[in-house]
Amino acid sequence: MEKLWAPWREKFILCEKKPGCFLCRTARENQDRKNLILLRGTWCFAILNRYPYNNGHLMVAPFRHVGKLEGLKDEELGELWKISQLCVKALKSGLKPQGINLGMNLGKISGAGVADHIHLHIVPRWQGDTNFMPILAETKIVSVGLSNTYRVLRKELKKLKDTSD
Ligand SMILES: [Zn+2]
Repeated sequence: MEKLWAPWREKFILCEKKPGCFLCRTARENQDRKNLILLRGTWCFAILNRYPYNNGHLMVAPFRHVGKLEGLKDEELGELWKISQLCVKALKSGLKPQGINLGMNLGKISGAGVADHIHLHIVPRWQGDTNFMPILAETKIVSVGLSNTYRVLRKELKKLKDTSD
């Protein structure tokens, strides 16, 4: 896979990290819009990545602070994939990507930013995004893009939820 060049991620890398686990903190806070939480299930939740590799880059994680895949309970595993499936559907209908990468970085050495709280990355991909993304979308993604993407995906997820109820 070609590497996406995402210079806005420097902000994430360079910014002073608040103490504690950010996934636990955002899940605990009751500010889903501000924290970009897209969906809450019983065991897991989906959150838009504030420092995305691409527009629509989101993460699905258990509420419980677990660092190992083998540490997840069956119901957490099940819901992690169920929510991931919903998010893939929402991305497809909302952002029309041409492909989607799903992946987990297990352990710091593999590149995990939050190594001790497992999360699945879902990154939509478009033809040529490795070339044009940094030039066209750098500032948009960080400012207008994020809240817009959040709105679009929330709407799609709500539609999916309404049809499944
Ligand atoms: Zn945590």
